Amino acid sequence: MNYSHLIKPVLDQDYPVVSYGDGIYLYDTTGKKYIDGSSGAITASIGHGVKEIIDVMLEQAKKVSFVYRSQFTSEPAEQLATKLSQLTQGDLNSTFFVNSGSEATETAMKIAIQYWQEQGIKTKNKILSRWMSYHGITIGALSMSGHTARRARFVPLLEDYPTISAPYCYRCPYDSSYPFCKLKCATELDQAIKRIGPENIAAFIAEPIVGAAAGAITPPEEYYRVIREICDKNNILFIADEVMTGLGRTGKMFAMEHYQVQPDILAIGKGMSAGYTPIGAAIASDKVMAPILKGSKQIMSGHTYSANPQSTAVALSVIQYIEKNNLVQNAEDMGNYLVTKLTDLQKKYAIIGDVRGKGLLIGVEFVSDFLNKLPFKREVALTNLILERAQVNGLLLYPSATGIEGVGGDAILIAPPLTISEEQVDELIAIFEQTVKSLQNDLQ
Ligand code: PLP
Repeated sequence: MNYSHLIKPVLDQDYPVVSYGDGIYLYDTTGKKYIDGSSGAITASIGHGVKEIIDVMLEQAKKVSFVYRSQFTSEPAEQLATKLSQLTQGDLNSTFFVNSGSEATETAMKIAIQYWQEQGIKTKNKILSRWMSYHGITIGALSMSGHTARRARFVPLLEDYPTISAPYCYRCPYDSSYPFCKLKCATELDQAIKRIGPENIAAFIAEPIVGAAAGAITPPEEYYRVIREICDKNNILFIADEVMTGLGRTGKMFAMEHYQVQPDILAIGKGMSAGYTPIGAAIASDKVMAPILKGSKQIMSGHTYSANPQSTAVALSVIQYIEKNNLVQNAEDMGNYLVTKLTDLQKKYAIIGDVRGKGLLIGVEFVSDFLNKLPFKREVALTNLILERAQVNGLLLYPSATGIEGVGGDAILIAPPLTISEEQVDELIAIFEQTVKSLQNDLQ
């Protein structure tokens, strides 16, 4: 297994070798069964081995897999772009296909900067963002990410874009509580813009619900209305990074619908193709496109594989599958059921400090002292313990902690495929309880 050694995130860790997937389950080569409780990296939204998608893959491969976007468009690419413009809010009508979430956010960043340049404004180049956020691993996307551990090694190469606090109500940055806080974590943006100067800022980017950096941090209801107002008042674009939350994950097709706020640019990936192919997209509004179409008429970005017929055909069939099987509604229903079950567990196990999230993007934060919300010491590495033990017990979870002492705590994401049934949630919860119970006993 020389190849896998090169790409292992933890080089001395032995991973099981996957054999096949079926629905919400994965099987390794020893025959062991796992519940995919995190859809991998919150990606396999429709579950594994779906025949309809595999059929589309084969049919498209027989026709044509690749054409270069500067020479051809294709029916799947056109149909997918049309579908996305129908599904998204308002005037988000222009789609730029890429191959990953990082490319989607970085393309969004470039579109935002170009929007101002095309109007003759050359100074608006900064993208503000929040701490405890994750927008991707490439240098531009990492510059926007407030994920301390993932930034650490590359700080000299990065822009200092993370500026304001996360809307982390469980550990309020202002030591207050909603609604008495008057949403200071949102109004902080206004002060930051004044300090940096709106003439230097192109956009503000945020994940509607924070994923990888802090266990499904979910802001209060009017948070994004305040953010949108501050952006508008200061002439700054708003980019929503829905790479993790988009395409039904949170019980709405896009998580910004919960907040009834339309971004100027939307970044998507992951669930867009549910892991059946690598693809992502940045979707720009008519307002953003207007000066570009009047000016250079070209987005200064693009990749060899952008908009390839194979990936776009697969993503289109995944979205059709989500719609046909009512999976957005199922995400809401099963998410509510899962939260009820997790809240029951919280009453039994004091190490479960917080349960939060929307739909099937649920964060669980662990504490060593429930009443005082004390995080575990870093050397305990609780997130890793939970993940490893759950995997041994046959449940896959996703780590969602910054791994830095004093910055957040230990958290995991539970985000199974949107196809999950009530009986399967019960099965997931049983293994999760077994894991939490044994860990709590061992830690006492
Ligand atoms: N944006 C968000 C919100 C993400 O959660 C991620 C990945 O976890 C990314 C961007 C980067 O996506 P990718 O890993 O596909 O490059």
